[in-house]
Amino acid sequence: MQQPAATTQNWTNSFSAAIGDTPLIRLSTLSRETGCNILGKAEFLNPGGSVKDRAALGMIDAAEASGRLVKNGTVVEGTAGNTGIGLVHICNERAYPCVIYMPDNQSPEKAQLLQTLGADVRQVPAVPYKDPANFQKQAGEYASTTPGVFWTNQFDNTANRDIHFRTTGPEIWRQTDGLVDAFVTACGTGGTLAGVSRYLKQKNQNIQIVLADPMGSALYNYVKTGLPEISKGPSITEGIGNSRITGNLADTLIDDAVQVQDLDMINVLYKLLMKEGWYLGSSTGINLCAAVQTALKLGPGHTIVTMLCDSGNKYQSRLYNKEFLQEKGLA
Ligand code: PMP
Repeated sequence: MQQPAATTQNWTNSFSAAIGDTPLIRLSTLSRETGCNILGKAEFLNPGGSVKDRAALGMIDAAEASGRLVKNGTVVEGTAGNTGIGLVHICNERAYPCVIYMPDNQSPEKAQLLQTLGADVRQVPAVPYKDPANFQKQAGEYASTTPGVFWTNQFDNTANRDIHFRTTGPEIWRQTDGLVDAFVTACGTGGTLAGVSRYLKQKNQNIQIVLADPMGSALYNYVKTGLPEISKGPSITEGIGNSRITGNLADTLIDDAVQVQDLDMINVLYKLLMKEGWYLGSSTGINLCAAVQTALKLGPGHTIVTMLCDSGNKYQSRLYNKEFLQEKGLA
């Protein structure tokens, strides 16, 4: 039977097409406490469950457009989490095998999830970035020694920040009617912050761009002093913080940085869960604390936008496990 043409604008026709255009949610408790509008971009509603669906889509689309990824090609990335999840979904949609290198110290749920989605998961020893056996380096090595393999290279491939320039930035501008005073977010690759900063600064250079950083990362010191010196850690957050300035983050206008302790991150997440029903991940807790600090600094009447990067689902055994928190002295 012939299928009718899928032309109505009310339908979304693919996984890729369902990425982005996420709601902007006013968080009433934090807004009341600060006298500001604290608005969160609900990235956990992307079809793969996180903000990284955007980066995965941006990098695959750019690789196809440039001819670096062709039919029957393989995609490889070094990732412990959300980027890998986004990539596997899109690789399935477009019939590319997907190879994921990840450090072997990650929670078993992550490797299992990637395998369930269809990735060829390769767990390698958790060693620092400078070691050639590091998971990111091994992903790059695999691509450079195997024909037909494309390394998405999320940290330094600026197709990552470009999609945030093309989508996240304009969405925030439109959803706030241009009345955004500050944009606050943590950085892993820096793609989100760099893309949104470039868009919003072009619209209004007075919009404050604030980097939220967990302990044990070098980015707070980088913004404050120009030197990426690692601060005292550790942090139980995942997917954020960095010891180096990536290709995505380089040459980005950043007005300020806020450092957030894990205990404050946990408190804000449990407060939002108990008072408003939002079940959110650790990087979002860092973002919310930094958004509140930014609101207090700017004073009442301002509008602060941040990212609700993913939900609490992947963090049940740690962040949302009282025994784990007690063990870490964070209960
Ligand atoms: N939050 C979570 C949960 C993530 O997985 C990531 C990406 N690693 C980020 C925030 C940071 O996003 P970006 O890589 O765009 O800086």
